[in-house]
Amino acid sequence: RISWRCSEYPAPRGGEIYWNELVEIVLLAANWTRIAEEDALTGLPNRRAYEQRIAQALAALNVDEHFALVIIDIDHFKRVNDDHGHQTGDQVLRALAQTLKRATRDADFVGRLGGEEFVLLSLCSDVAQARKLAERALSAVRAFDWRSRCAVDAVTASAGVGLHSEIGATEPNLIKAMYVLADRRLYAAKKFGRDRAVAED
Ligand code: GH3
Ligand code: MG
Ligand code: MG
Repeated sequence: RISWRCSEYPAPRGGEIYWNELVEIVLLAANWTRIAEEDALTGLPNRRAYEQRIAQALAALNVDEHFALVIIDIDHFKRVNDDHGHQTGDQVLRALAQTLKRATRDADFVGRLGGEEFVLLSLCSDVAQARKLAERALSAVRAFDWRSRCAVDAVTASAGVGLHSEIGATEPNLIKAMYVLADRRLYAAKKFGRDRAVAED
């Protein structure tokens, strides 16, 4: 038995709990943390996890390093749902998540922001390397055997790439500004015909 003093969660039996109870609390807390940060459909880190990771990564950045945000959005995904049903749409989202994981390094962050929008975070040496990362991801999506794995025809995606070093030092919200930058380029990629990455204005 151990003594337990916590004003928020008063312990029974006059401030004492058993070790096994403490272990149970710790395991429950770990499980809830996982649930809070994981996307239920794909198993990827969710938007909350993305926000934590990008803040940590930017805070830990060295002066000579560049940090890339890539937003990836499936092309004409609504058609997949309309033509094949929501179940197939979900299957495509799961397969896409796995494809993005395989196309990136372990150190890169791959998350699902919501809907059919995914995000990559990566340390890189310059804009050319960031663009390469995005293009590798899109190539992997293009090359995936969608017909035999999900019973749909070709699936492609578009990407917008932004570097933290492109944002001015006086910008008060760097994370938001990076997102706006990458999202603007994603929009351009869609406008230029989709299935491509745009890494500059
Ligand atoms: P664009 O190439 O311009 O991105 O077109 P789009 O059809 O991909 O984009 P739009 O935003 O029009 O449609 C997105 C669709 O994604 C609509 C929505 O029903 C679907 N969607 C969002 N979340 C989920 C999900 O969790 N599962 C499934 N099956 N569909 C989803
Ligand atoms: Mg889309
Ligand atoms: Mg979208």
